[in-house]
Amino acid sequence: YYDNDTLIYLNGSFEKASVTGIDFYGQALHYGYGAFEGLRAYNTHLGTRIFKAEEHFERLKLSCEAIDIPYRWDNNELIEQAYELLAVNNLRSAYIRPLVVSGANMHLTASKEASIMMAAWEWGPYLGQNLLRVCVSSIERPNPKSCRVDAKICGQYINSILASSDALNKGFDEALLLDQNGYVAQASSENLFIEKDGLIYTPPLANVFPGITRQTVAEICKSLHIELIERPLTIQDIYQADAAFLSGTAAEIIGIKEVDHIVYQEDWEHSLSATIQRKYKNLVLENENYEVII
Ligand code: PMP
Repeated sequence: YYDNDTLIYLNGSFEKASVTGIDFYGQALHYGYGAFEGLRAYNTHLGTRIFKAEEHFERLKLSCEAIDIPYRWDNNELIEQAYELLAVNNLRSAYIRPLVVSGANMHLTASKEASIMMAAWEWGPYLGQNLLRVCVSSIERPNPKSCRVDAKICGQYINSILASSDALNKGFDEALLLDQNGYVAQASSENLFIEKDGLIYTPPLANVFPGITRQTVAEICKSLHIELIERPLTIQDIYQADAAFLSGTAAEIIGIKEVDHIVYQEDWEHSLSATIQRKYKNLVLENENYEVII
């Protein structure tokens, strides 16, 4: 019922889809039907190293399987190709973005074909290096009963864009989103941790994205004998914390200065959170090893 030689309308002219270079009939373009990953490569004293590459590509596979996109790639080969991608672009440190998109199909059913692509570019910490001013957003996280919030699926990021744009428009750096039960779940594309009386808290997995950095924070806490408690966090818990931080591959670990204009009293540099942040930086740079106890 369509083919790539049918004329399509494109910004004022009529072209064959095949010459536009656009996969015009792809489900990813129309329906956000695809999955992606975000990894970081660091310039370490041992050379360029992609942090937790296996975990990221495994999650890409799980994300595709979660929405029935056939995953026919070998992750070890993809990791090799990610290193190759860095080499051909002369990148020693970079953010790496693999993307799997479902093939041409205008029906709302899973396509049998998918393509994978990968890009890499130099990218500083996504939210900068300064302590953040965040707000609790009026936009909620998607309900886990209506979509796969545990998978990194393209279309779901409309929710993240709405929340972070809204926060930016109001003069904040990032948004915290509530889950469907009114608990604070996470930021638009980072997990959330708070510090209170020497303990670290984070919301449980059911309603939050299973961040690989979140898992790394858990491992760091174990290795430093810091108690990490997973439990639902109320807005009051967030307001009354001593310190807080966000975790994500792109943002790394970044402290929060204030939430809804309520300023944390603990001096960041002396917080447990800052210790975890320093440990993370050393880990990704391979400056020190840590025991994986979990
Ligand atoms: N939440 C969401 C919605 C994300 O997309 C991401 C990844 N950017 C994270 C949290 C953090 O995950 P990770 O630590 O694996 O990068």
